[in-house]
Amino acid sequence: MTCCGTGCTSSGSLKDRERLAALIERDNMQDKVRVVKTGCFGLCAEGPIIMIFPENIMYTNVGPDDINEIWESHIMNGHIVERLRSENELDFFSKQMRIALRNCGRIDPENIDEYIAFGGYEALEKVLAEMDPEDVLETIKKSGLRGRGGGGFPAGVKWQFAADQKSREKYVCCNADEGDPGAFMDRSVLEGDPHSVIEAMIIAGYAIGAHQGYVYVRAEYPIAVERLSIALKQAKEYGLLGKDILGLDFDFDLEIRLGAGAFVCGEETALMRSIEGNRGEPRTKPPFPAVKGLFGKPTILNNVETLANVPQIIMNGPEWFSSIGTEKSKGTKVFALGGKINNTGLVEVPMGTTLREILYDIGGGIPNGKKFKAVQTGGPSGGCISADYIDTPIDYDSLLALESMMGSGGMIVMDEDTCMVDIAKFYLEFTVDESCGKCPPCRIGTKRMLEMLTKITEGEGTLEDLDELEDLAHNIKKGALCGLGQTAPNPVLSTLKYFRDEYEAHVVDKR
Ligand code: SF4
Repeated sequence: MTCCGTGCTSSGSLKDRERLAALIERDNMQDKVRVVKTGCFGLCAEGPIIMIFPENIMYTNVGPDDINEIWESHIMNGHIVERLRSENELDFFSKQMRIALRNCGRIDPENIDEYIAFGGYEALEKVLAEMDPEDVLETIKKSGLRGRGGGGFPAGVKWQFAADQKSREKYVCCNADEGDPGAFMDRSVLEGDPHSVIEAMIIAGYAIGAHQGYVYVRAEYPIAVERLSIALKQAKEYGLLGKDILGLDFDFDLEIRLGAGAFVCGEETALMRSIEGNRGEPRTKPPFPAVKGLFGKPTILNNVETLANVPQIIMNGPEWFSSIGTEKSKGTKVFALGGKINNTGLVEVPMGTTLREILYDIGGGIPNGKKFKAVQTGGPSGGCISADYIDTPIDYDSLLALESMMGSGGMIVMDEDTCMVDIAKFYLEFTVDESCGKCPPCRIGTKRMLEMLTKITEGEGTLEDLDELEDLAHNIKKGALCGLGQTAPNPVLSTLKYFRDEYEAHVVDKR
């Protein structure tokens, strides 16, 4: 199996694939050896990655020149090529638990038969043949599944709100508009296991009484879009979408809508306006989308990772899912590990795993023996957590208590050389660029904050500026219309809280 996710593709896995295919043909081994393209294995830092079955041997950093050796030594003669094996493999995977990523790196995402062979669409069959919509709603509520895209709202409660609405038209939407810098969890699920999302959306449609769904996905994710399109076509051919699904009395169809890269379109009301063909701008809530959403009809919106959990919950039961994680944060969470960390990549761990375990046991620690300084969780909406809190169990509530947030799962690690004021400025520049401009606290306020931060980083700020910066940040949080503006000050506030001395080192004391 060759990883053909975006990470390994960009480091040359397609060439490895071509080389392997050529050797199979040259040696007439078509009936004995098959090259399968998969989604992401997770250990992106060591790509391109190749996995050899049935021995289960992972080779990393494989260049086209290494393929000949793997072919001659391992495939033709059964001798493992030790020099291409990763020293990190065992540590990287041993503390992980893969639910949302269960099929990533295990199946060919462009082949529905492989998804079915690994239990795919069994949950849908069970739902349609054996369960009432109320049973499905109860199952999701009991599982404790919370939204993996940001706020952590209970998915089953959201579904129940939409199910309770009397309307002939309802919609199921999937938010695949993953825009946080450094985040690639949803992209990887769509690239590696698109059918799990399709299956979950049909189940959600049945539960709330919807017959149409939309996947809103970034156009900047060409591989994900292509694999999702192939998966939709196959699902239609297999009678899993359209009229009378699986020969049973339920109709549901799905379409893809491409987002043009505006970060604000990850906000639910802006996303729905964009699907409707309007400019993607948030609106005030209530009414919430479960009551009045897409085209003014009851709508649920879940992100890719949330949905990828659903078929497993149906098959294994809500008790199984709720037995994983912490009291208020059930199941697992996928994180994209990036920045100053040895094992850059994609990890999935039970909620409650500590930051130390993620960064050191799985992530392999900080490169070049440097000291860990902080980690930004939750992208531009989250905050920086300092090294003092490295033993914090990661779940929704403990991150909020540290004035950060889970967000969608980006984790950018910083070492002792990182200037925290620069980091805050980087995230603020991002939100200033991405503000849709609809409300003044965000449109004008974040710009003023950026001007103040620029003054501070240029050594022209004062201690009074720090107080003003903090005041303005709190006012923007209170006054902004949508989540983008309400959370935009978080990186500044959290760095001011944990690294105020660094800000003070930049300013002149005129008091
Ligand atoms: Fe637009 Fe920002 Fe206001 Fe949200 S908070 S509506 S992104 S201007």
